[in-house]
Amino acid sequence: MFYTHAQLDRADHLRKDQAKQNELYAQSNAQLLPVWNGKLLVGEGRDAIPEKLSIPSSHSLTGKDNTIFLGLIGEQPFFALSISSIDENDLTQWTTLAQSIYPEHNNIRFDDLRIIGPTLLADEGALMAYARGIVYWHDTVKFCSSCSRPLHSINAGHIKVCDNDNCKHQAFPRTDPAVIMLVTLPATTDSPALCLLGRNQAWPPGVFSTLAGFVETGESLEQAVQREVFEEANIRTEDVRYIASQPWPFPRSIMLGFEATATTKDITIDPDELEDAQWFNAEQLKTFGTWGDENYEFQLPRPDSIARFLIDRWVNAQ
Ligand SMILES: [Zn+2]
Repeated sequence: MFYTHAQLDRADHLRKDQAKQNELYAQSNAQLLPVWNGKLLVGEGRDAIPEKLSIPSSHSLTGKDNTIFLGLIGEQPFFALSISSIDENDLTQWTTLAQSIYPEHNNIRFDDLRIIGPTLLADEGALMAYARGIVYWHDTVKFCSSCSRPLHSINAGHIKVCDNDNCKHQAFPRTDPAVIMLVTLPATTDSPALCLLGRNQAWPPGVFSTLAGFVETGESLEQAVQREVFEEANIRTEDVRYIASQPWPFPRSIMLGFEATATTKDITIDPDELEDAQWFNAEQLKTFGTWGDENYEFQLPRPDSIARFLIDRWVNAQ
Protein backbone atom coordinates (compact mmCIF):
# COMPACT_ATOMS: atom_id res chain seq x y z
CA MET A 1 0.00 0.00 0.00
CA PHE A 2 1.35 3.45 -0.89
CA TYR A 3 2.63 5.53 2.06
CA THR A 4 3.75 2.42 3.94
CA HIS A 5 7.50 1.80 4.01
CA ALA A 6 8.76 -1.74 3.48
CA GLN A 7 12.22 -1.38 5.05
CA LEU A 8 11.99 1.36 7.67
CA ASP A 9 12.82 0.24 11.23
CA ARG A 10 11.25 2.79 13.58
CA ALA A 11 13.73 1.63 16.24
CA ASP A 12 11.55 2.61 19.17
CA HIS A 13 14.16 1.17 21.55
CA LEU A 14 16.64 3.89 20.47
CA ARG A 15 14.29 6.82 21.15
CA LYS A 16 14.75 7.05 24.91
CA ASP A 17 18.57 6.92 24.78
CA GLN A 18 19.65 10.56 24.34
CA ALA A 19 23.33 9.70 23.98
CA LYS A 20 22.48 7.21 21.23
CA GLN A 21 20.28 9.80 19.54
CA ASN A 22 23.16 12.30 19.52
CA GLU A 23 25.43 9.61 18.12
CA LEU A 24 22.96 8.71 15.35
CA TYR A 25 22.49 12.38 14.45
CA ALA A 26 26.27 12.85 14.24
CA GLN A 27 26.76 9.86 11.93
CA SER A 28 28.11 10.91 8.54
CA ASN A 29 25.26 9.08 6.77
CA ALA A 30 22.45 10.63 8.90
CA GLN A 31 19.83 12.34 6.77
CA LEU A 32 17.26 15.06 7.49
CA LEU A 33 13.90 15.56 5.81
CA PRO A 34 13.07 19.25 6.29
CA VAL A 35 9.32 19.97 6.41
CA TRP A 36 7.95 23.49 6.04
CA ASN A 37 4.24 23.83 6.82
CA GLY A 38 3.38 20.46 5.33
CA LYS A 39 5.65 20.84 2.30
CA LEU A 40 8.72 18.70 1.67
CA LEU A 41 11.96 19.17 -0.20
CA VAL A 42 11.96 17.68 -3.70
CA GLY A 43 13.89 18.06 -6.91
CA GLU A 44 13.65 16.66 -10.40
CA GLY A 45 16.25 14.29 -11.75
CA ARG A 46 17.04 13.49 -15.37
CA ASP A 47 13.54 12.18 -16.08
CA ALA A 48 11.90 15.41 -14.73
CA ILE A 49 9.92 13.49 -12.10
CA PRO A 50 9.95 14.79 -8.49
CA GLU A 51 12.16 12.88 -6.04
CA LYS A 52 12.68 13.09 -2.31
CA LEU A 53 15.74 15.16 -1.39
CA SER A 54 17.24 14.75 2.07
CA ILE A 55 20.01 16.79 3.67
CA PRO A 56 22.98 15.26 5.54
CA SER A 57 22.65 16.26 9.20
CA SER A 58 26.20 17.67 9.07
CA HIS A 59 24.98 20.27 6.51
CA SER A 60 21.91 21.36 8.49
CA LEU A 61 21.24 25.09 8.66
CA THR A 62 19.79 24.70 12.15
CA GLY A 63 20.47 22.75 15.34
CA LYS A 64 19.09 19.43 16.48
CA ASP A 65 16.07 21.10 18.09
CA ASN A 66 12.89 20.44 16.13
CA THR A 67 14.19 17.14 14.81
CA ILE A 68 12.28 13.91 15.22
CA PHE A 69 13.94 10.52 14.80
CA LEU A 70 12.07 8.60 12.10
CA GLY A 71 14.14 5.43 12.27
CA LEU A 72 16.74 3.42 10.40
CA ILE A 73 16.81 2.17 6.85
CA GLY A 74 19.53 -0.42 7.04
CA GLU A 75 22.30 1.39 8.95
CA GLN A 76 21.19 4.85 7.86
CA PRO A 77 19.38 7.10 10.37
CA PHE A 78 16.64 9.44 9.15
CA PHE A 79 15.25 12.44 10.99
CA ALA A 80 12.37 14.79 10.19
CA LEU A 81 13.14 18.45 10.80
CA SER A 82 10.46 21.08 11.29
CA ILE A 83 11.42 24.40 9.70
CA SER A 84 7.82 25.66 9.69
CA SER A 85 8.72 28.73 11.79
CA ILE A 86 11.01 30.25 9.16
CA ASP A 87 9.78 32.84 6.69
CA GLU A 88 8.81 31.51 3.26
CA ASN A 89 11.48 33.75 1.67
CA ASP A 90 14.15 32.01 3.75
CA LEU A 91 13.34 28.63 2.17
CA THR A 92 15.81 29.59 -0.56
CA GLN A 93 18.60 28.96 1.97
CA TRP A 94 17.48 25.33 2.06
CA THR A 95 16.88 24.96 -1.67
CA THR A 96 20.29 26.53 -2.38
CA LEU A 97 21.90 24.11 0.06
CA ALA A 98 20.07 21.20 -1.59
CA GLN A 99 21.22 22.36 -5.02
CA SER A 100 24.84 22.25 -3.82
CA ILE A 101 24.31 18.67 -2.59
CA TYR A 102 22.28 17.59 -5.64
CA PRO A 103 23.90 19.54 -8.54
CA GLU A 104 22.22 17.29 -11.14
CA HIS A 105 18.70 18.07 -9.94
CA ASN A 106 16.46 20.81 -11.29
CA ASN A 107 13.46 22.65 -9.95
CA ILE A 108 14.41 22.07 -6.30
CA ARG A 109 11.55 23.26 -4.11
CA PHE A 110 9.26 22.56 -1.18
CA ASP A 111 6.12 20.92 -2.52
CA ASP A 112 2.86 19.33 -1.39
CA LEU A 113 2.98 15.56 -1.04
CA ARG A 114 -0.71 15.36 -2.00
CA ILE A 115 0.21 16.69 -5.45
CA ILE A 116 3.52 14.93 -6.11
CA GLY A 117 2.84 11.73 -4.11
CA PRO A 118 1.66 9.58 -7.02
CA THR A 119 4.87 10.20 -8.98
CA LEU A 120 7.22 9.25 -6.15
CA LEU A 121 8.85 5.89 -5.57
CA ALA A 122 6.68 4.14 -2.98
CA ASP A 123 9.29 4.04 -0.23
CA GLU A 124 10.22 7.69 -0.76
CA GLY A 125 6.57 8.70 -0.57
CA ALA A 126 6.17 6.64 2.61
CA LEU A 127 9.11 8.24 4.40
CA MET A 128 7.93 11.70 3.36
CA ALA A 129 4.39 10.98 4.54
CA TYR A 130 5.70 9.84 7.93
CA ALA A 131 7.86 12.98 8.21
CA ARG A 132 4.95 15.21 7.19
CA GLY A 133 2.58 13.62 9.71
CA ILE A 134 4.93 13.68 12.70
CA VAL A 135 6.01 17.27 11.96
CA TYR A 136 2.37 18.33 11.73
CA TRP A 137 1.90 17.01 15.26
CA HIS A 138 5.13 18.66 16.42
CA ASP A 139 4.04 22.02 14.91
CA THR A 140 0.47 22.02 16.19
CA VAL A 141 0.74 20.50 19.68
CA LYS A 142 2.78 23.07 21.59
CA PHE A 143 0.85 23.66 24.80
CA CYS A 144 -0.41 21.38 27.53
CA SER A 145 -4.06 20.44 27.09
CA SER A 146 -4.37 20.14 30.88
CA CYS A 147 -2.71 23.34 32.22
CA SER A 148 -1.81 25.32 29.05
CA ARG A 149 1.90 25.59 29.84
CA PRO A 150 4.43 24.91 27.03
CA LEU A 151 5.36 21.34 26.12
CA HIS A 152 8.84 20.11 25.32
CA SER A 153 9.90 17.09 23.28
CA ILE A 154 11.32 13.90 24.75
CA ASN A 155 11.78 10.40 23.38
CA ALA A 156 13.48 11.63 20.19
CA GLY A 157 10.50 13.84 19.40
CA HIS A 158 7.78 11.18 19.83
CA ILE A 159 6.44 12.40 23.19
CA LYS A 160 5.86 15.91 24.49
CA VAL A 161 5.79 16.62 28.19
CA CYS A 162 4.46 19.62 30.10
CA ASP A 163 7.02 22.07 31.53
CA ASN A 164 4.94 22.46 34.69
CA ASP A 165 6.47 20.20 37.35
CA ASN A 166 3.10 19.93 39.09
CA CYS A 167 1.49 18.68 35.89
CA LYS A 168 3.98 16.75 33.71
CA HIS A 169 1.14 15.82 31.34
CA GLN A 170 2.37 13.82 28.36
CA ALA A 171 1.09 14.25 24.79
CA PHE A 172 1.48 11.60 22.10
CA PRO A 173 1.07 11.81 18.32
CA ARG A 174 -2.55 11.12 17.38
CA THR A 175 -4.01 9.40 14.34
CA ASP A 176 -7.68 9.85 13.46
CA PRO A 177 -9.37 6.68 12.14
CA ALA A 178 -11.47 7.14 9.02
CA VAL A 179 -13.40 4.40 7.23
CA ILE A 180 -13.43 4.27 3.44
CA MET A 181 -15.68 1.79 1.70
CA LEU A 182 -16.60 0.33 -1.63
CA VAL A 183 -20.30 -0.51 -1.52
CA THR A 184 -21.30 -3.16 -4.03
CA LEU A 185 -24.46 -4.72 -5.41
CA PRO A 186 -24.21 -8.33 -6.60
CA ALA A 187 -25.04 -9.13 -10.22
CA THR A 188 -28.63 -10.08 -11.07
CA THR A 189 -30.19 -11.51 -14.24
CA ASP A 190 -30.89 -7.91 -15.35
CA SER A 191 -27.68 -6.20 -14.30
CA PRO A 192 -23.96 -6.83 -13.84
CA ALA A 193 -22.46 -6.25 -10.39
CA LEU A 194 -22.37 -2.57 -9.48
CA CYS A 195 -20.44 -0.38 -7.08
CA LEU A 196 -21.40 2.92 -5.49
CA LEU A 197 -19.17 5.94 -6.03
CA GLY A 198 -19.83 9.52 -5.08
CA ARG A 199 -18.33 12.91 -5.64
CA ASN A 200 -17.61 15.88 -3.43
CA GLN A 201 -18.31 19.25 -4.99
CA ALA A 202 -14.78 20.42 -4.11
CA TRP A 203 -13.29 17.85 -6.51
CA PRO A 204 -12.53 18.53 -10.18
CA PRO A 205 -15.50 17.84 -12.49
CA GLY A 206 -15.97 14.16 -13.31
CA VAL A 207 -14.05 12.70 -10.34
CA PHE A 208 -15.90 9.89 -8.54
CA SER A 209 -14.57 7.97 -5.54
CA THR A 210 -15.51 5.68 -2.70
CA LEU A 211 -17.49 7.07 0.21
CA ALA A 212 -15.59 7.78 3.43
CA GLY A 213 -15.95 9.35 6.83
CA PHE A 214 -14.49 9.64 10.30
CA VAL A 215 -15.20 7.09 12.99
CA GLU A 216 -17.24 8.61 15.81
CA THR A 217 -16.81 8.12 19.53
CA GLY A 218 -18.31 4.88 20.77
CA GLU A 219 -18.89 3.10 17.46
CA SER A 220 -17.17 0.16 15.81
CA LEU A 221 -15.54 0.44 12.40
CA GLU A 222 -18.32 -1.66 10.87
CA GLN A 223 -20.96 0.62 12.35
CA ALA A 224 -19.10 3.68 11.04
CA VAL A 225 -19.15 2.16 7.52
CA GLN A 226 -22.89 1.48 7.66
CA ARG A 227 -23.72 4.86 9.22
CA GLU A 228 -21.67 6.88 6.71
CA VAL A 229 -23.11 5.07 3.68
CA PHE A 230 -26.63 5.58 4.97
CA GLU A 231 -26.04 9.25 5.87
CA GLU A 232 -24.37 10.15 2.57
CA ALA A 233 -26.37 8.07 0.08
CA ASN A 234 -29.32 6.58 1.99
CA ILE A 235 -28.14 3.06 1.13
CA ARG A 236 -28.44 0.22 3.65
CA THR A 237 -25.55 -2.27 3.82
CA GLU A 238 -24.64 -5.62 5.31
CA ASP A 239 -21.63 -7.94 5.38
CA VAL A 240 -19.02 -5.22 6.05
CA ARG A 241 -15.59 -6.70 5.25
CA TYR A 242 -12.20 -5.26 6.16
CA ILE A 243 -9.80 -5.14 3.19
CA ALA A 244 -6.71 -3.00 3.97
CA SER A 245 -5.51 0.18 5.62
CA GLN A 246 -3.39 3.13 4.57
CA PRO A 247 -1.67 5.84 6.60
CA TRP A 248 -3.04 9.17 5.42
CA PRO A 249 -1.13 11.95 7.21
CA PHE A 250 -3.07 14.74 5.47
CA PRO A 251 -2.92 15.85 8.18
CA ARG A 252 -3.27 12.90 10.60
CA SER A 253 -5.60 10.10 9.50
CA ILE A 254 -5.44 6.42 8.85
CA MET A 255 -7.83 5.15 6.19
CA LEU A 256 -9.43 1.80 7.05
CA GLY A 257 -10.65 0.23 3.85
CA PHE A 258 -13.78 -1.94 3.64
CA GLU A 259 -16.19 -3.52 1.21
CA ALA A 260 -19.87 -3.70 2.10
CA THR A 261 -22.83 -5.23 0.30
CA ALA A 262 -25.82 -3.00 -0.37
CA THR A 263 -29.29 -4.25 0.56
CA THR A 264 -31.05 -1.27 -1.02
CA LYS A 265 -30.43 0.44 -4.36
CA ASP A 266 -32.21 3.80 -4.48
CA ILE A 267 -29.74 6.61 -3.81
CA THR A 268 -30.69 9.81 -2.00
CA ILE A 269 -27.61 11.96 -1.45
CA ASP A 270 -26.99 14.24 1.50
CA PRO A 271 -26.14 17.48 -0.34
CA ASP A 272 -24.00 18.65 2.57
CA GLU A 273 -21.71 15.65 2.01
CA LEU A 274 -21.97 14.77 -1.68
CA GLU A 275 -22.76 16.48 -4.95
CA ASP A 276 -23.62 13.23 -6.71
CA ALA A 277 -23.52 9.45 -6.21
CA GLN A 278 -24.10 6.75 -8.81
CA TRP A 279 -23.89 3.01 -9.37
CA PHE A 280 -21.25 1.98 -11.90
CA ASN A 281 -20.35 -1.39 -13.39
CA ALA A 282 -16.79 -2.62 -13.97
CA GLU A 283 -16.91 -2.06 -17.74
CA GLN A 284 -17.81 1.58 -17.17
CA LEU A 285 -15.03 2.07 -14.63
CA LYS A 286 -12.46 0.66 -17.06
CA THR A 287 -13.18 3.62 -19.37
CA PHE A 288 -12.53 6.21 -16.63
CA GLY A 289 -9.37 8.32 -16.49
CA THR A 290 -7.39 9.31 -13.42
CA TRP A 291 -7.96 12.40 -11.26
CA GLY A 292 -6.77 15.51 -13.07
CA ASP A 293 -6.83 14.05 -16.61
CA GLU A 294 -9.43 16.25 -18.27
CA ASN A 295 -9.37 14.13 -21.42
CA TYR A 296 -11.82 11.89 -19.60
CA GLU A 297 -15.38 12.83 -18.68
CA PHE A 298 -15.18 10.56 -15.62
CA GLN A 299 -12.09 10.17 -13.47
CA LEU A 300 -11.06 7.85 -10.63
CA PRO A 301 -8.99 8.79 -7.55
CA ARG A 302 -5.22 9.15 -7.69
CA PRO A 303 -3.27 5.87 -7.91
CA ASP A 304 -1.57 6.44 -4.52
CA SER A 305 -4.89 6.30 -2.65
CA ILE A 306 -6.60 3.37 -0.97
CA ALA A 307 -9.80 4.55 -2.68
CA ARG A 308 -8.26 3.65 -6.01
CA PHE A 309 -6.90 0.40 -4.58
CA LEU A 310 -10.40 -0.64 -3.48
CA ILE A 311 -11.92 0.28 -6.83
CA ASP A 312 -9.22 -1.44 -8.93
CA ARG A 313 -9.41 -4.53 -6.72
CA TRP A 314 -13.12 -4.83 -7.32
CA VAL A 315 -12.91 -4.13 -11.06
CA ASN A 316 -10.22 -6.80 -11.46
CA ALA A 317 -12.39 -9.33 -9.63
CA GLN A 318 -15.37 -8.90 -11.98
ZN1 LIG B 1 0.48 20.79 32.00
